[in-house]
Amino acid sequence: MVDTADSLKILVVDDERDIREGVERILKRMEYGVLTAGCGEEALTILGKESVDLAILDLKMPGMDGMELHQRIRDLDENIIVIIITGYATIETAIEAMKQGAYDFIPKPFEPEHLRIVVRRAHEKLRLKIEAEALQAERARTLMDLDMEKSRIRTILESLPTAVLVTNTSGEVVLMNPAFLQSLDLTDSVTAGNKLEAYVADEGFCEMVLKLSRGECDNSADAPTYELVVSGNKYLMARGQSVINENNECMGAVVTFANITSLKMLDQLKSEFVAKVSHELRSPLSTIHEQLAMVLKEASGHETDVDQHLIERAKEKTHALISLIGDLLDLSRIEAGGISHNIQSIQIGDLLKSIVDFMKVRAQSKNQLLSLELSPETMPHLTADPMALESIFGNLVANAINYSPQGAGIVVKAAPDGKYIKVQVTDNGFGIAPKYHQQIFERFYRVKDANTRYITGTGLGLPIVKGLVDSMNGSIKLDSDVGKGSTFTVLLPV
Ligand code: ADP
Repeated sequence: MVDTADSLKILVVDDERDIREGVERILKRMEYGVLTAGCGEEALTILGKESVDLAILDLKMPGMDGMELHQRIRDLDENIIVIIITGYATIETAIEAMKQGAYDFIPKPFEPEHLRIVVRRAHEKLRLKIEAEALQAERARTLMDLDMEKSRIRTILESLPTAVLVTNTSGEVVLMNPAFLQSLDLTDSVTAGNKLEAYVADEGFCEMVLKLSRGECDNSADAPTYELVVSGNKYLMARGQSVINENNECMGAVVTFANITSLKMLDQLKSEFVAKVSHELRSPLSTIHEQLAMVLKEASGHETDVDQHLIERAKEKTHALISLIGDLLDLSRIEAGGISHNIQSIQIGDLLKSIVDFMKVRAQSKNQLLSLELSPETMPHLTADPMALESIFGNLVANAINYSPQGAGIVVKAAPDGKYIKVQVTDNGFGIAPKYHQQIFERFYRVKDANTRYITGTGLGLPIVKGLVDSMNGSIKLDSDVGKGSTFTVLLPV
């Protein structure tokens, strides 16, 4: 049997030799392979040895007639196409044969062209059948491949030690692996299919994932992260990304989770250690600082052996150390959540005015113009700790002065913004490259470039600012680029 439709092998069965040979000649000219048999038995013997695609049978033969032979051929191989040749007298039988599955019939006597047409049509049918079978096989293979791929991905996800969550564009969970259930302290019986809020109660987290699911985040930027606290004592760092298909459409989001509890504990131990050491150092250093001041005071105006310049330097250094220790202690307190809030109702406009007035001297020493814009002039009251607010805006204004050149302009603006008060500290100074925008809020991080290299600092100012803003349920945002200056925007709830 052919497995392509290019050529056919045809068996011609007729007891009339002339017809048999005539048909054979016509078919051979059509470049088909032809086998011939003079009776049904001979035909069956041939079919026992050879596979054929098409059989042309005379209906009326001595011994086994065409009808019986047709039935035997069908029993043998129902894929063989059968064409019946018949005299007019047996046309009903031919129709009967077709009812039983014969493909066509040719009444005798027939023209060669008639035979050619019928055979060509049978050939075409066979070709289409082979093609359809090939397509079917291909489809089955593709489906099987897809199935295998799907189960492979599922198995990989299921055995992944990292917690993984996948959402669709509506923020519904479509996939979560056992590591996710375990990380979120959910039972094994929890299944996907609901809104994310049904699994994770943290609103901020759900909001971040929803934005990612809708493709509202910049996928070229670093994957956004979110720190989640589970059951009060387990810390997870979630990192998410929108899933974009080949047509650049967002399909949902994928989020992975890392357990950072041990890092947090270590961080806490480190903070406690730093706080302890700072505390122990502060009193002796303050004593040294005071004693140096006394030595300087006694020596001033007298001719003495004391090198006043050296002592002045030593006093400055101890002062810097004392303020570093102060910053460290502040930070430890903020991070431990134990900051002693002296909560009061505060006129933020007045507070900003006093900070700006106080810092003006410093700005003037660099010929900088420091100004305050309040709109409206009388701001709503904030309920907050004035020391915390002074620390936040004092640090931001000090930074604006420090990291701007001579003659720069610095503006502090405040205005109500919905349920918040928005305070912006803007300078047209050196600016900060976007790649540092997150890092500068980390402890001790300082940008070292040609502009900032010789400016002294501890790298603790912004972490203190952020810690305080966070503790007041506010937020801080930075817009800045190198050479363009910086704007720190603080939102504080009224
Ligand atoms: P410090 O000022 O003691 O170095 P901060 O935490 O206050 O520490 O600031 C961290 C870093 O952020 C600074 O070293 C500086 O490089 C950068 N920075 C902060 N504010 C500004 C600003 N207004 N303009 C440019 N750079 C700034």
